[in-house]
Amino acid sequence: MNLDQIDTPALILDKSRLARNTAAMTARVRDLGVDLRPHLKTAKSADVARLALDGNFGGLAVATLREAEYFFDNGFSDMTYAACIVPSKLNRVAALCAKGADLKLITDNAGVARALSEYQAESGGADGRPLKVLIEIDCGEHRTGVLPDSPALLDIAGILDAADGIALEGVLTHAGHSYACRTPDEMAAVAEEERAAVVGAADRIRAAGHPCPTVSAGSTPCVMFVRDVTGLSEVRPGVYMFGDMFHAGLGTRKIDEIAITVLASVIAHREDDNQLYIDAGGLALSKDRATAAFEGDADCGYGLVCDAATARPIPGLKVASVHQEHGLVTSVGPMPFGDLPIGHRVRVMPNHVCMTVAAYDAYNVIESEAGTGTHLVPSST
Ligand code: PLP
Repeated sequence: MNLDQIDTPALILDKSRLARNTAAMTARVRDLGVDLRPHLKTAKSADVARLALDGNFGGLAVATLREAEYFFDNGFSDMTYAACIVPSKLNRVAALCAKGADLKLITDNAGVARALSEYQAESGGADGRPLKVLIEIDCGEHRTGVLPDSPALLDIAGILDAADGIALEGVLTHAGHSYACRTPDEMAAVAEEERAAVVGAADRIRAAGHPCPTVSAGSTPCVMFVRDVTGLSEVRPGVYMFGDMFHAGLGTRKIDEIAITVLASVIAHREDDNQLYIDAGGLALSKDRATAAFEGDADCGYGLVCDAATARPIPGLKVASVHQEHGLVTSVGPMPFGDLPIGHRVRVMPNHVCMTVAAYDAYNVIESEAGTGTHLVPSST
């Protein structure tokens, strides 16, 4: 089997690149001296999780309860559901914990903390095991989380610590504003903001007499460029596993480290316009235009067009616009129509891999570094 035998558009995962990326992050976080809790919201795959967890303590993070249920069913227990919990989801949480999951929740709200306390009092919890809850801290992104110096922090800590059947597990933050940085120094500065905020919140909680064993931080840009992790217990990067064109623009991943591409076929030539169409449009690539934030070549439209066999960029080509199923490819110079006949395959590197991957049911797995050339391994991740 080879790439020519796969119907297009198709999601391709290069396991060699993935394994290199996960091993490099494991080594980096080991050098930093904290635990790595990889975030699996992008990969959503037990096989990918096994690679990401190799050499680490075994905990992972998820963004939905559906992901938590999937990972538990596939043998993973220690999970942080890293989006604010709402009371209507507690029956589902309880069902998972009753089966043995060590699922940790997060909240930034005193009312929710009270609802968790009441729920545990009424339901008795999972086999007498406490429900572990972290308080989310806003370290500057202003998405969710309480400010580290806010009165709300200690209100929530007090409610959770006093509740029967709840263990105040600690604090968690995510510096999503690291994505607005453009240089390593800027990313290091946001990483320090993130660290100071979450460690400061942990110090306040402990000074008020409450426990705070876990101090959790981390986005991919912060973990790649952080200089000091004092006071952190774990970091939770996720997108480093695959990388994408936005991360290539940021400098957190090189183009030849990007592990996800979309295989597409050339379906039409527009010779008068120096353009062609592929069968990968907005559904296959996503309509994310994250790289519009960059200047020049780093803005690759809806994706960078690459040679199918080598995944090397074809100079000057990008997906300039998308319809539902059509992608318009433009070229800076004369379009190499002769090298790209109708039916020819290319691979497109996406702007925002989380959005691209989420549209597919399965990965087609290749190992670019096993043997000569690109070939498929039989299993799909
Ligand atoms: N933690 C939380 C709460 C997140 O929302 C995310 C990503 O959105 C991550 C960790 C992982 O960060 P990244 O996608 O930069 O690897």
